[in-house]
Amino acid sequence: MPRLVSHPDEVKIVSRRFGMGAEKIDRYLELGGYEAVMKCLAQDSDWIINEMKASNLRGRGGAGFSAGMKWSFVPRQSAKPKYILVNGDESEPGTCKDHLIFLHDPHSVIEGTIIAGLAVGAKMGFIYLRGEYRYLLEITERAVADAYQRGFLGKNIFGSGKEFEIITQTGAGAYEVGEESALMESLEGKRGVPRIKPPFPAVVGLYGGPTVINNAETIATVPHVINMGAAAYAAVGTPRNGGTRLFSISGHVERPGVYELPMGYNLKKMIYEVAGGIRGGRNLKAVVPGGSSTPVLLPQEIDIGMDFDQVGKAGSMLGSGGVVVIDDQTCIVEFALRTISFYAHESCGWCIPCREGTDWLKKSLTRFHAGFGAPSDIDNMQYLAENMLGRTFCPLGDAAAMPTIAFIKKFRKEFEDHLNGKPCPFAREGVLQLTVV
Ligand code: SF4
Repeated sequence: MPRLVSHPDEVKIVSRRFGMGAEKIDRYLELGGYEAVMKCLAQDSDWIINEMKASNLRGRGGAGFSAGMKWSFVPRQSAKPKYILVNGDESEPGTCKDHLIFLHDPHSVIEGTIIAGLAVGAKMGFIYLRGEYRYLLEITERAVADAYQRGFLGKNIFGSGKEFEIITQTGAGAYEVGEESALMESLEGKRGVPRIKPPFPAVVGLYGGPTVINNAETIATVPHVINMGAAAYAAVGTPRNGGTRLFSISGHVERPGVYELPMGYNLKKMIYEVAGGIRGGRNLKAVVPGGSSTPVLLPQEIDIGMDFDQVGKAGSMLGSGGVVVIDDQTCIVEFALRTISFYAHESCGWCIPCREGTDWLKKSLTRFHAGFGAPSDIDNMQYLAENMLGRTFCPLGDAAAMPTIAFIKKFRKEFEDHLNGKPCPFAREGVLQLTVV
């Protein structure tokens, strides 16, 4: 469980109530809670959507799509019920920030969900929590029950005559249901596999109705955007990347943790100043900037601003904001193996390039890491991963292929050092060595 950490460069917007008892409704109200939803009740839906667009708030789950634009795609006059779906299925390795929101500030998620409902004309919201986060279910359900008891949820919210209900649900521990359409399948009680798109959820989503699906951090940010005003929120970040981000910094740093920093904050500074530098004074070898599915960056590539556009230009992705720092004592082949093992385990098996590709990459890397690889394996693994790209039913195939390609391209020499039956050059006492399967 990530501990609460702090650094003077932080701009605490989403995390400003963390550790202040705001999981209790009275404290949340003392700290300005539910003021944003009352402000929105006095406005029309166009005003809310325009504020969201102007804030430049982009999806915090990984795709980075404009939240306001997403909301504007919901057809106004649909005869079908509309839904708001909060994606709290935080499963990307290296990412642990939504967890803190549910733990310390669950009412911000409830408030953001109500505002999203007012914006698109939905009367029902679902909060979907990761299966392994069952201990957060009690906190979230208590917050929902308290909101009902105060009349903030139900048939007549805040005495406005408007209706909004929230239901909480947990998954069963599958990474794949973090994909929005698979999440909807799971919520409907079916196997969590993705749906064909189009149609997109904004038009045909949960139970066939128009559905807004947003990451929990995105939804928890909404009340702050309304309270601050879109222009003030946007001004905190960089052009096209409004506000702050909860960055989960893990790996070989002195002070790992979740830090809220402005969008565009320099990655090198984030590692060496905010997170205290490389553990034990060692040297930096590589950085995974946005969760395990994002291509690795070399030390000479990290002097960049952490927003969707700048990290994209550097050849990787901001993703879920999970920064994994790797020191010079780490075997990249083993790191690549651990990464692909995760995706091979989590592949839902629906389509062949992902089901077979992840498994073959895992087998090849296992053999390779154990010193039983052939020189041709390096190109074969790269060729296999490149042929998965864009050929799978959902983004998990790309998520597995992209890091593998980057590891091989950027650390080819290290792969070559594992050839000809030599033991892993990083093998040392006390470090887990993987064996051929
Ligand atoms: Fe399932 Fe992988 Fe295909 Fe996605 S890409 S549908 S996870 S097999």
